[in-house]
Order: sequence, then structure tokens, then C-alpha cells
Amino acid sequence: MCKATIFLDMDGVIADFAGGAAEIFGYDVEEWPAGVYDIAEVFGESEPAIWDKIERDAGFWVTLKAYPWSTAIVDLCRKNGRTVIASSPSRDPASLSEKARWLRVHYPDIYEEGAYMFGPAKELLAGAPGAVLIDDNPKNIESFEAAGGLGILFPQRWNDLHYICDGYEKYSHVRDRLREIIGDCITGGQSGGGEKRKT
Ligand SMILES: [Mg+2]
Repeated sequence: MCKATIFLDMDGVIADFAGGAAEIFGYDVEEWPAGVYDIAEVFGESEPAIWDKIERDAGFWVTLKAYPWSTAIVDLCRKNGRTVIASSPSRDPASLSEKARWLRVHYPDIYEEGAYMFGPAKELLAGAPGAVLIDDNPKNIESFEAAGGLGILFPQRWNDLHYICDGYEKYSHVRDRLREIIGDCITGGQSGGGEKRKT
């Protein structure tokens, strides 16, 4: 496959949602239990209580940090296919607008291109030509693949690839999986972990 449409998740891939949430709950993200995706289990509070606290934290979504590897991952995707940000907002409508603002701040060219889709039903994107989803949520990968797309689980401490901790290793994993999918059309082999975030 040489013509890929790469859908790139935000939270947990290029935007540090876990770090932002951990800050609210006074939790050390380094202590995150390996392979546990459920934030209620991690923070020891009910899901509604967690979302309520996040909702009350005005500007939560727009102030999330980019990861050190974010720009390298975005560049890798853009070199290897049509790249579209695919992100699911929370139930708080502010999340939707703040995510758009986050994108405008960190990746203004993607924002200007309108290369983003905000909504929870990512599997509906699986019908795009050569559709690939890069996402840290195994359920999203599962439903995207069930709908006919190809998924790349982004390594994070809360999923099955929790043992891939280093930024460069995460980058290499995505690059290698893209190489398997796209074949010889893949480009990019530079370091992925050392870049400073933009803001
Ligand atoms: Mg995510």
C-alpha cells in the first residue's frame, strides 16, 4: 500500500492528557500501573467525578503539553501519507473547541489545512483509501480494524505496549509498523525522542 490516509490520535499520542489529568489528581504519572487504561481505577475515583473535575478546570484541553516525540511522529506521518488528526472530545463542549485551539497552537499548518476530524466514531474513517489509525486506545484500534482499516497501537504505559517507554523507541515502533503496512514507500529514519515541544 503506497497511498495511505493516516489518522493520528491526539490524547496519549501527541497531547499529554494523562499528564494533565494526573496533575489535577495529584498523581505521579510515573506510577501509572502498566497496562491499565481505566482512569477511574488509576485515580481511585468514579469516572463521573473525574470528568467533573476535569470539566471544572477551565482551559484543561488547550493547555495540555505536547510530548517530546509529537513533532517527530507528526512529521513521520505527513511524509508517508495524507495525515488527518482524529480525536474524540470529552462530553464537555469546551473540550471540542479547546482541542481545535490546541491544534492551532501546536500544528498551525494542520489546523489551516483543516486536516482534523473530531468525534468518537473513529471507525467511520476506516473506509478512507489506505486508512491507518495510530491511537493509544486498544478499543479504538479494535473497532477501526473491525471496520476494515489498519491500526497501529501507540505504545503507552496504559496499554499492552507499556514496555516501550523511551520516546525514540515509540517513534521506531510506529515507523516500523508503518513500514510493514506501506512497504517500501516509507520514509524517515531519524531520531524521534529528542525534540523539544513547541510551547
Ligand atoms: Mg488517545
